[in-house]
Amino acid sequence: MLRWLWVGRATSFGEMTDLPRALRERLEEAFDTGLPEVVERTTAEDGAAKFLLRLPDGVQVEAVHIPMGKRQTVCVSSQAGCALDCAFCVTGRMGAGRNLTAGEIAGQYLALAREAPFGPHESNVVFMGMGEPLLNVRNVMDALDLLEREVASRRITVSTAGIVPGIEQLARRRRLPNLAVSLSAADDETRTRLMPVNRTWPIAELFRALRAWPLEAGRRITFEYVLVDGANDSDDAAARLARLVRAVPSKVNLIPLNESPEWLPDLRRPPADRVDRFAGVLASAGVPVTVRRSKGLGAVAACGQLKGRETPRPPWKARAFPVPGR
Ligand code: SF4
Repeated sequence: MLRWLWVGRATSFGEMTDLPRALRERLEEAFDTGLPEVVERTTAEDGAAKFLLRLPDGVQVEAVHIPMGKRQTVCVSSQAGCALDCAFCVTGRMGAGRNLTAGEIAGQYLALAREAPFGPHESNVVFMGMGEPLLNVRNVMDALDLLEREVASRRITVSTAGIVPGIEQLARRRRLPNLAVSLSAADDETRTRLMPVNRTWPIAELFRALRAWPLEAGRRITFEYVLVDGANDSDDAAARLARLVRAVPSKVNLIPLNESPEWLPDLRRPPADRVDRFAGVLASAGVPVTVRRSKGLGAVAACGQLKGRETPRPPWKARAFPVPGR
């Protein structure tokens, strides 16, 4: 059955034609493969596609397929919402949702493999969809075991908002995925405003765990930094970030905010010249830096925005930001 699911891309027992007919019928009666069902597909001009998927209990999550030449990146969700309430995140505004099982996480990959479609050994997988993977670390580690049937661990990235016990637990795994950390500020005051999880695991504690991460030679930790106009995009903030990230072999991925006037009414994307200037400060300090010009911006948008259309919006909590160095 695993071969049918993973090699044959089957979605039902009926398709597993080398099983005896009577067994297939009994399986169909008693069980379900549990693969997510595609509710909606939104495709951008550049081919990036966002999928709204329905899990067997009716809960909906999002997954994204981003073609990149001969390969592609598949972005999966690990929870059906998120309790961490990052200021710049639509999923966070929707609030907490249940943990996904390992099968539901790996099932998103299989559903997209059939829909997109794509074959084995062609993908990168990133845990950057809805939810905080390391608040669901047991199931995420089991999902890694499943995904590694056809995606090498060096092609899988787990992205965390900085759950220190989860980082420590993942670090004990025999095969390590890449680690990405959503940082978005290099001082505790700004980071706590943007990412309340920083109250529980402030920057010093986070970096203690990152320094202990068993990084193989030549690999780096990725720091994701969502740039929000006037909140964390000053020259001072860039210089502080450069000093901080040098503590571990790393690179910085700058993500200009994906604006969502409905869900994030006060927050703006910085102008392009400010993004370039921020990247320039990092580069001149010797920090490897890339700017993520979001693929499929508009049609695909940020995580949570498809599901968000059907979710009631809680009241907006405005958060004041200091604007040092502007
Ligand atoms: S950015 Fe990630 S960790 Fe933060 S609220 Fe959104 S889903 Fe949760």
